[in-house]
Amino acid sequence: MDFTAAYTALKFAKDALKFTLEQKIDDKVHTQVSEAMEKIGKVQDELFLVREELLKLQEDNHTLKALLREKESWEKQIEEVYLYTTSAGDHLYRFKGLPERFACPVCYVKKELYILQWNDKPYKYECKACKSEFRAQDYPDTGILVSDYDPLSRY
Ligand SMILES: [Zn+2]
Repeated sequence: MDFTAAYTALKFAKDALKFTLEQKIDDKVHTQVSEAMEKIGKVQDELFLVREELLKLQEDNHTLKALLREKESWEKQIEEVYLYTTSAGDHLYRFKGLPERFACPVCYVKKELYILQWNDKPYKYECKACKSEFRAQDYPDTGILVSDYDPLSRY
């Protein structure tokens, strides 16, 4: 609907009626023209409100479409990962396929997939985005065999 054209047409009709009122007319015609002008004024007010509502709905529609695109994009991304538990018991998201890559579970909750990187600490992954650390595997043994352990040597 072309609101500007409709509003202009109503204004034209109202101006024509106003011009008629300024002429010499009898009381009955004057009353009817006044009533017609009043009704046109109400239609103009309603038209304005409908236009405002349309603008709000268009804005909502735009926002909802953006949210839907974002949701669809996220759903497509998470199809590429699955929940994975490291041998140390930490839960991560693992990407399907190779090379082996993991995603941060903290960022996952925020609907972001960040690939974990090895950090300086042994056997730990780190998320560069949120700085969370995850144990990749249990620490290896120290190389000291239980049979080498002599409790009496301490005394
Ligand atoms: Zn993270």
